[in-house]
Amino acid sequence: MSDLIIRNCNLGNSDSKDIFIKNGLIEDITNNIPKIGCPEIDAKNYFVTSPFVDSHFHMDATLSYGLPRVNQSGTLLEGIQLWGELKPTLTKDAIKNRARKLCKWAIARGTLIIRSHVDVSGDNLLAVEALLEIKDEMKDYIELQLVAFPQDGLLRSNCHKNLIKSLDMGVDVVGGIPHFERTMVEGSESIKILCELAEKRNLLVDMHCDESDDPNSRHIETLTLHTNRLNMKGRVAGSHLTSMHSMDNYYFSKLIGLMVEAEMNVIPNPLINITIQGKHDTYPKRRGMTRVPEQIKAGLNVAFGHDCVMDPWYPLGSHDMLEVAHMALHVAQMTGVNEMISCFDSVTTTAAKVLHIEKYGLKKGSYGDLVILQCKNKIEALRLKPTRIFVVKKGKVISSSNPTEYKLQLNSKPEYTDLIF
Ligand SMILES: [Zn+2]
Repeated sequence: MSDLIIRNCNLGNSDSKDIFIKNGLIEDITNNIPKIGCPEIDAKNYFVTSPFVDSHFHMDATLSYGLPRVNQSGTLLEGIQLWGELKPTLTKDAIKNRARKLCKWAIARGTLIIRSHVDVSGDNLLAVEALLEIKDEMKDYIELQLVAFPQDGLLRSNCHKNLIKSLDMGVDVVGGIPHFERTMVEGSESIKILCELAEKRNLLVDMHCDESDDPNSRHIETLTLHTNRLNMKGRVAGSHLTSMHSMDNYYFSKLIGLMVEAEMNVIPNPLINITIQGKHDTYPKRRGMTRVPEQIKAGLNVAFGHDCVMDPWYPLGSHDMLEVAHMALHVAQMTGVNEMISCFDSVTTTAAKVLHIEKYGLKKGSYGDLVILQCKNKIEALRLKPTRIFVVKKGKVISSSNPTEYKLQLNSKPEYTDLIF
């Protein structure tokens, strides 16, 4: 918990403010805060934002690309099979080393909150132990919210006991994967069991739900049913929801109403959805991302997740939430001004709402967490994915970088550009 004054902050509009962080909390945002002898930094009128929030990630699998072999087909199912081959060989130290490295990459990119699913469907809970230890080790720098995720299916892999044990150990959120159960009936049954478990323990729910191209998958509907029945409005998130891309427009018009009634939170994963879905198509190929503009228009909170970085499902990435929002914007054709702004919010403020994060945002009383980007506003941030000049956590600078500048030598005299419009 530190004190810090940040001078000349551009908050996305024209006037420049100073931000005073006292004991780790934002004390004031105003003009010309007097010097009080605490550390100061100069934002130089660059854009200051709340930190990025990754609403959906798999930290137990991250940075395992190529172990024990690469995903040749690039499909979701080969990825799950590959993860099954890797799991028996995992050690706690190896999981922790990779997760720690990923956390450092995320911090450097200005992401200070990550919701990570953790597989509870194996013989042991090694990954749960490893990620709980990393959560504690990194808590002063990055907040990890863990989801008990029955990767191989709650009923299909009979992992109910493991899932409950992981919650007893301190995992925060109840996960699920109904479309991976053997039948639609068992998928529905798994949703019922998991929602009741979450309600009994007063926990949030976040299920991988209908991550398929099957227009007839109906688990989102079932998730809204149990959300309403158990009075869990606003406390349940559906991750992926890719089936909505392919479903009939008439059915969609019914389903979106049910989602609004349940105040369901939506977590698409654009980088993964665009590369994994539509693999069985010839041409035209479906994009496979859920219907983001329509969901936002209906008033739902939509938060984007990174999902994967260099793991059995995705060979790329460096944990940059601006890359995620940039992809979402393109896939959903959201180039309207307000649409672009909402894409930025889906990796910051809206995501914090979806994850029920307290004291988030650039306002008095919130945690002194922020990122200074080498750009002027949200839209430019999406365009440039710029250098994160300072990353501040509770009033302490935890990452910094020099602004990027390119030296051009076109004539005898060098000139410089930073790509800012
Ligand atoms: Zn996932």
